[in-house]
Amino acid sequence: MKKVDSTLNKIKSCVRQAKAYTLKARQVEIKLNQNENPYDMPSAIKDEVLRRIHRRPWSRYPDFVPGSLLAKLAKFSGWREDGVLAGNGSNELIQAVLAVTVGEGTRVVIPEPTFTLYQLLVRIFGGEVIPVPLTERLQFNIPKIASRAVANKADIVIICSPNNPTGCVIEERDLASLLTAFNGIVIVDEAYHEFAGQSFAPLLAQHPNLILLRTFSKAMAAAGLRIGYMLSSPEIALEVHKAKLPYNLNFFSQTVAETAIDMFDLLRPSIDKLIEERERVFGELGRIRALQPVPSQANFILVRSAVAPQEVFDQLLARGILIRDVSAYPMLGECFRVSIGTPEENDRLLGALREVMER
Ligand code: PMP
Repeated sequence: MKKVDSTLNKIKSCVRQAKAYTLKARQVEIKLNQNENPYDMPSAIKDEVLRRIHRRPWSRYPDFVPGSLLAKLAKFSGWREDGVLAGNGSNELIQAVLAVTVGEGTRVVIPEPTFTLYQLLVRIFGGEVIPVPLTERLQFNIPKIASRAVANKADIVIICSPNNPTGCVIEERDLASLLTAFNGIVIVDEAYHEFAGQSFAPLLAQHPNLILLRTFSKAMAAAGLRIGYMLSSPEIALEVHKAKLPYNLNFFSQTVAETAIDMFDLLRPSIDKLIEERERVFGELGRIRALQPVPSQANFILVRSAVAPQEVFDQLLARGILIRDVSAYPMLGECFRVSIGTPEENDRLLGALREVMER
């Protein structure tokens, strides 16, 4: 046996069987593939960040616990400070939460299709994914999620609401009944919650088995800075804290998050605009022959297409527009996903789709 093979044998087989989470980088004029905020962070916020950063000694480590940020996040989200953790993107917190909950044989119920990172990490930690398909209309199948979780003696349920890539949401009363019926932990990824006007933070006080994950990468216009946060009971936060690396959040990102919260009034209008544009784009997509948009509460729309998604992707790319081909996801063989851009970007997208679909 070659040395490299015997070395590879030391890698866990669940890891060797997994497929890496990747995305090919492409330079395009109109980027509608990652659900980013097309409106950059307002200059007034950037300037204030730079002022604050300049005052701080760069040779010193960041705070071990970013107390000032946690206090602001607590106030911003209406939850207690000792139940807040900050992370290097919400991805890091998904990993930390699963690191402290998933081991060999842990059963995790995950509605599908959804954000693929959950199942990848569950598998890497040795857990077992119990998929529950969305309904035919691409909504959460709440009775099935609850019954499969209970029948399979699952430990965790992960729900993404609004769900990436479909845009559906779980209703608060359904989540509350799931939290009551199920003894395990329910993780809700609220990466896109601002676009749905939905926050499950009020449920935290009554349901110590609820963990919420959030990000500054979407509505908060800071994807490049890698900032996420978690809301949970203080007891769970203490445990998840153990699985984060020390100094995971650099002070530049911490300062961006604090300043964005302090000056949130300047960010709010872009969120409102994106919601308004989502509704307009949804209406327009529905008028294009052979396209069927799926109602969405996020800053993206899933579209069913009579032309193969790969073909639509290529045709749009040739016109300088990057979208996401999601046809490899379960149930989505005929679908692509578009992020909501600025009105001008959306008009370019709609024009190009009319051309491609109505040829
Ligand atoms: N959760 C969901 C549902 C997402 O779609 C994404 C990004 N695509 C993330 C989490 C990751 O966010 P972050 O940039 O905070 O790591």
